[in-house]
Amino acid sequence: MADLQAIVEEIHEKLTPRLGEGKVADYIPQLAHVDPKKFGMTIVTVDGDVHKVGDCDEPFSIQSVSKVFTLTLALGKHGETTWNRVGREPSGSAFNSIVQLEHEEGKPRNPFINAGAIAVSDLVLAGHTPREAIGEIVRFVRYLADDDSIAIDPEVAKSEQATGFRNFALANFMRSFGKLDHPVEHVLGVYFHHCALAMTCTQLAKAGLFLAASGRNPLTGHTVVSRQRARRINALMLTCGHYDGSGDFAYRVGLPGKSGVGGGIMAVAPGKASVAVWSPGLNHNGNSLLGSLALEMLATRTGWSVFGQ
Ligand code: GLU
Repeated sequence: MADLQAIVEEIHEKLTPRLGEGKVADYIPQLAHVDPKKFGMTIVTVDGDVHKVGDCDEPFSIQSVSKVFTLTLALGKHGETTWNRVGREPSGSAFNSIVQLEHEEGKPRNPFINAGAIAVSDLVLAGHTPREAIGEIVRFVRYLADDDSIAIDPEVAKSEQATGFRNFALANFMRSFGKLDHPVEHVLGVYFHHCALAMTCTQLAKAGLFLAASGRNPLTGHTVVSRQRARRINALMLTCGHYDGSGDFAYRVGLPGKSGVGGGIMAVAPGKASVAVWSPGLNHNGNSLLGSLALEMLATRTGWSVFGQ
């Protein structure tokens, strides 16, 4: 196996002159004030080796990366009936688009655009109060990463709530089509809180490791999902994980991945490793600019790709 520690250090070194490129999300102050020059990267291999560099142990707002964890929970609770509420096709439009939702009568295209993740929050809420559902999500992520220090940033959750007008619009729209079972405020309470999870690259890479190892976390020995479900979640990340930039990410990186507007990306090299990278500057699709580049460099150096050697 390639010397992964040397590779992450080389990637960091090569990208250092470019730190600060891209546009930091500014719709809430907690994201707008993040130092744009932060950069962290952690690789956790299926053998349990950890290779990391830069600001890899500093927590950041994982935002939409959390949608992978809520989808996993919803599938665990509802199985294949999850797909009655949300589709599995790339959207081809912006992450918070409302237009498509009208055409499709309140059934969002996929679980990773905002509307789809809101539908998934509704499924996670089944049988719970919002507080219990949020607690379940946090416990699940802690279990995945085997790290009880992971928490939600309450200030981020509050700001999301205060500025989430478009998410309220999406949720109300779905509710008007009878596509949400719970009150909009409850569903969005869950959604805003899981977006506000704060995690480090190392925690995120560990939390995603089950997806690289056929559904079982090799660090803890816990079987999280079946082999088939891990493959399917990876398929969704590959086709839908980067909003309208998913095709470009597949072309350049060739690995399933999920990005968030906080500048984080979690990527999975099946059978090999889970990788998390954080660089707050975003490209025009809302995906981390240097984070995508770092993963492209990693894929080139290691040959990791789901499309061939
Ligand atoms: N909380 C953000 C929103 O709903 C998440 C967006 C993202 O990470 O892409 O607008």
